[in-house]
Order: sequence, then structure tokens, then C-alpha cells
Amino acid sequence: MFGDEILKVLITEEEIEKRCAELGEQLTKDYASSGNKLLVVALLRGSVPFLAELIKYIKLPLEMDFMDVSSYAGTESVGDVKIVKDLDTSIKGLDILLVEDIVDTGRTLHVVKRMLYGKGAERVRIVTLLDKPERREVEINADYIGFTVPNEFVVGYGLDYNQKYRNLPFIGVLKPEVYE
Ligand code: 5GP
Repeated sequence: MFGDEILKVLITEEEIEKRCAELGEQLTKDYASSGNKLLVVALLRGSVPFLAELIKYIKLPLEMDFMDVSSYAGTESVGDVKIVKDLDTSIKGLDILLVEDIVDTGRTLHVVKRMLYGKGAERVRIVTLLDKPERREVEINADYIGFTVPNEFVVGYGLDYNQKYRNLPFIGVLKPEVYE
């Protein structure tokens, strides 16, 4: 049955919704003072449920765009992030809020942030639903963090295992047999 493969729930739907409301309130305050146009850039596909919940609480005019990037399999190099889908909007002079599902090694965001500044963004701040600091390999910190999680592979609320489990309304850990 749906949900049977879950070993434990780490963060419930209620906790996520409450935290999104808090983050949205904070973001509203911080971006209201900047005066620049706000562009929310979400990284596909994992950030979509978080994005949808979060923007309900950002009480400012904003625009949205999406990027899809993937790491080349088997490579350890920071530069090897491939753009699968680039932005449709020109970002010159804009204030960007980059929305991510989880910061793990930090490689993806390190490269994407550099790309956005390369395209002329005025300022790039990062909001992530989850942070897994124990796994960090490159120095990058999110400006806004939903929850810090231990060094375990998590699924749900956008996060997948082999493209599954993104629609779970909570963050959880899978039973070991799922990987066998
Ligand atoms: P990073 O470049 O920070 O190592 O990796 C970021 C990406 O790796 C995330 O956007 C996510 O797609 C994937 N990832 C990292 N940790 C996890 C995890 O615990 N669970 C899932 N489902 N994906 C993860």
C-alpha cells in the first residue's frame, strides 16, 4: 500500500506547513526592504511542493522561473553541473530567491549561484526546505533553512528515490529493503 515502504517520518506535513508560514513571513520582511523586483527561481523537480507552499506566505509581488540542472554521473568535479532547462527570464539586476529541496554536498547550489551572478543577478539568496550540513563538500550556506536533517537519505515533499515518493506529504526515510 501507499506509504508502506516508509521506515519513519522525520518531519510531518503540519510541521512543514508551519515552517513555510514562518519562512514566508521572514522573506516578506527581508525582500520588502530591498525595493528590487523579486524573481523566485525554483530548481526542478524536487523543490516544487515546497515552492507551492512557501509562496502562499510571501506577501509581495513576485515572478517565478524554473531551472533544471543535473550532475554528470560519476564525476566529483564542481564544474560539472549540466543545465537541462535554463531560465526563460532575463535576470539582469534582479533580486533572486533560489528555492531548493535539500542542500547536501552543496555542489549544485555552488554552481547555480555562480551561474546566476554570471547572468547579471543583483543578489541571490537561497531558501532550502532541508539542510544536511554533515555532508557538505563545498562552502555554501542557505540564507533560509526549513529544517536541518541528519545524514540519512530522505524522501517525500518533492524528494525522490528513482523518481518515486515525491508526492508523500511528509519527509521520511525508506525501509532498507526498498534499496535492495
Ligand atoms: P548537492 O549538490 O547539494 O549534493 O545535492 C543536491 C541534490 O541532491 C538535491 O537537490 C537532491 O535532488 C539530491 N539529494 C541530496 N540529498 C538527498 C536526500 O537525502 N534525498 C533525496 N531524495 N535527494 C537528495
